Amino acid sequence: MTVSIIPVTTLFEEVSRYHPNPDLKILEEAYNFALKAHDGQVRASGEPYINHLIETALLVCKLKLDIPSVVAGLLHDSIEDCNTTKKSLSEKFGEDIAEIVDGVTKLTRVQFDSREEKQAESFRKMLIAMAKDIRVVLVKLCDRLHNMRTLSSLSEEKRRAIALETKEIYAPLANRLGIHWIKSELEDLCLLHLRPEIYHHLVAELERTNPDREIFLKETADEIQKKLEDSGVSAQVLGRVKHISSIFSKMEKDSLSFEEVMDVIGFRVLVSSVRACYETLGIIHSNFKPIPGRVKDYIAMPKPNMYQSLHTTVISSRGARVEVQIRTADMNRIAEEGIAAHWRYKEGGSSLGFDLGWVKDLVETQAYLKNPDEFIQSVKGELFPEDVFVFTPKGDLFRLPSNSTPIDFAYTIHTDVGHQTIGARVNGSIVPLEHRLSNGDTVQIITQRGHVPSKDWLRFVVSGKARQRIRAFLKTEEQARSISLGSDILAKDLRKVKLSLKKLEKEGKIKTIAESMGLKAEADLYAAIGYGKVSSPKVVAKLLPSEPGVEQKLTEVESSPLQRIFQRAAKASRDRVGIKVSGLDDVLVRFAKCCEPLPGDRIVGFITRGRGVTIHASHCSEILNADPLRYIPVQWDSEIARPRRVSIVVTSQDQLGILAKMTTAITSNGINIVSASMKTSPSGKAVNQFELEVSDAKQLDGLKRSLELLPGVIKVDRIVGGEK
Ligand code: MN
Repeated sequence: MTVSIIPVTTLFEEVSRYHPNPDLKILEEAYNFALKAHDGQVRASGEPYINHLIETALLVCKLKLDIPSVVAGLLHDSIEDCNTTKKSLSEKFGEDIAEIVDGVTKLTRVQFDSREEKQAESFRKMLIAMAKDIRVVLVKLCDRLHNMRTLSSLSEEKRRAIALETKEIYAPLANRLGIHWIKSELEDLCLLHLRPEIYHHLVAELERTNPDREIFLKETADEIQKKLEDSGVSAQVLGRVKHISSIFSKMEKDSLSFEEVMDVIGFRVLVSSVRACYETLGIIHSNFKPIPGRVKDYIAMPKPNMYQSLHTTVISSRGARVEVQIRTADMNRIAEEGIAAHWRYKEGGSSLGFDLGWVKDLVETQAYLKNPDEFIQSVKGELFPEDVFVFTPKGDLFRLPSNSTPIDFAYTIHTDVGHQTIGARVNGSIVPLEHRLSNGDTVQIITQRGHVPSKDWLRFVVSGKARQRIRAFLKTEEQARSISLGSDILAKDLRKVKLSLKKLEKEGKIKTIAESMGLKAEADLYAAIGYGKVSSPKVVAKLLPSEPGVEQKLTEVESSPLQRIFQRAAKASRDRVGIKVSGLDDVLVRFAKCCEPLPGDRIVGFITRGRGVTIHASHCSEILNADPLRYIPVQWDSEIARPRRVSIVVTSQDQLGILAKMTTAITSNGINIVSASMKTSPSGKAVNQFELEVSDAKQLDGLKRSLELLPGVIKVDRIVGGEK
């Protein structure tokens, strides 16, 4: 296939659309530079590589960014793919452009690995890039959007990997930055490549129902327009069909079929002032019946990505539910372009006028976090915000993550306020500390000097800050306890061989042992013993190298018949679950009820008090709330494969023969059915519960996918912990 190279004039035209006097010379230089640098390179589609760069630059133009950003769009792959250096770019195009290209290159190299530590590190790099210069991330988003548009020529495996990364990172990022058009297109493309059957099904459904909808759209838009005109409000009314991905997420969220997703259509009313927005809302409500609880005022309380609009859902004259968004032209621009609306060529340098505080917060707080899972959780929490706004008694406004409690609020004010909280009043009434705050609440915190945080709080706090501060406090406390416990145990074992811990400590011998085990100080060694991570007899043996057999002697002392029974039970427990626990032989192992990990899932062990090690999935919220010092690395023992019982619930349309199709799907995945039951709900849906024997997480995932492909199936859920 031969495709011609996009001429530079296309770029000139695009830039001139929004820029009054663009520096076309530097654009042409960059164009020629890229042309030369990527000479002979072709994309998987057979297209010349340069076209990817021009298309990226054109997308940057669509964001109406400054010239350095457009140039960086043209040059964004030159460091990665050609023998160009940052230095030579800087000499040719200036420091500013070289920095952006370098930033994009670094982001391109970031692999969002599935391993938590690496993923956390990747997120951190991205956040730092954002905090430094937001243009880096905007150019990267354009690059990614064009890559997603041209994904089809890649192998299935690559396509899925890129689409997954886009879904998990770049689409949420575009959303968080408020760039709606990029977000929607990325999400639609992700659905196309990750769930093609669903995507094509929805496209077909939309097409099938389209003629009718077109008429309805026009009728309703005209009707709204007329009512507004009658009341003297001039407005532009636009009807639109929602994005496929947003229709699908609605179907998934509320387990609806396509027919049941009523608000496939939305209307947008653009008016001239904020006042007219509220007037319009009133006029619409007096002419169409509003659905209670669906009015949202994002004008008074903008979303964290700056989005402003009034939302309401009303019953149209045809009886269908439609969503109406009311906003000014300025608000509309911000809704579509988000942060890019603030980063225009004309604004030049530094001032952003956009709240990137959350980025800086995350970059700073990550230093507190040893557990990468938790960091990822905080980032994801920030990327998928649903914030709640509350007031202090003095009327200061605070933004908190949704489901925040008075404790979260207290820690937002100050760490000491958080630590010393003993109670809270919301809108004047005393509430429990785990009370979930709502928009507009006035919150008053009651403190008591000397009060300390409770471990219990970790069960219900939701903000990263509160969680970190509470844990930091508990960690210090718990560590002190473990140190004293560990030094007691060691002193006792040393007494058995007539040695004194105090004396050895004075002679510096304990420190030497600690260092030989990679620990910094005596206290770390005691803590490790206290936690059960290091065995005290082993330490004693190391202190007495001249007397072989001490470890055995000490172990023998403890190896009572009961002890031996315990050791056998411990071995049996590990064999039963098929887990290897690093460094510990005599430990009981069981799966956590909260997450019931399957072979192949990423797992972590947790040392419980007196009940051995519990195995959790590493993303399990229980484990994220637990003390990381009690984590212990564990692995699946691949030699022991035992089928595991799992329960799944398949929600489907109540159709003839659908159960038979499901059972066929299950057995053809090589999975054994232990039991099955089916219930029909009054709404015409069937709830099918299966108990199955699967060998690992991969097999279950494969099954989920084939079930979801069956026509009529709405969703598939795994049930853990015996409840749903
Ligand atoms: Mn690229």
